Amino acid sequence: MQARSHLIFGIGATWLMHRTGLAASVHAWPLTLLGALLPDIDHPKSMLGQRVQPLSLAIAGVFGHRGMTHSLLPLALFIVACVHGFGHMPAWALALAAGYVSHLLADWLTPSGVPLCWPLRTRFRSPLFVTTGSAAEWVLAAALAFAMWRWW
Ligand SMILES: [Zn+2]
Repeated sequence: MQARSHLIFGIGATWLMHRTGLAASVHAWPLTLLGALLPDIDHPKSMLGQRVQPLSLAIAGVFGHRGMTHSLLPLALFIVACVHGFGHMPAWALALAAGYVSHLLADWLTPSGVPLCWPLRTRFRSPLFVTTGSAAEWVLAAALAFAMWRWW
């Protein structure tokens, strides 16, 4: 998916956290959006990759696009580190993780899918999918944005 769709999915994660009471703080917004862009750090031309290009080029060189950063491994390590370090998931960490999950969910909806169990090569993909940059992606993102606006 394109960055703007990932941002809408990230807002969707914030919306879901707000609706479920997981995050009542305004701090959730920027961190969830950062989390929604974070997996594409493995692509030097992505919105985030352009801003940290040396790091992005290094990650892309080692893991490739939609490799390790599009799996559950970084998320699991992050959760373990938070629980080990803080004894729980702080609200900011929960927001970042929710954005990350929203990115994986959005890319799961594309034909390429995501390697959730990386380093295993198996990619997981929704049976119903939308091609990146297609009109269907726009319709999906707009429908999600409308649903959030309607039920905020
Ligand atoms: Zn991605």
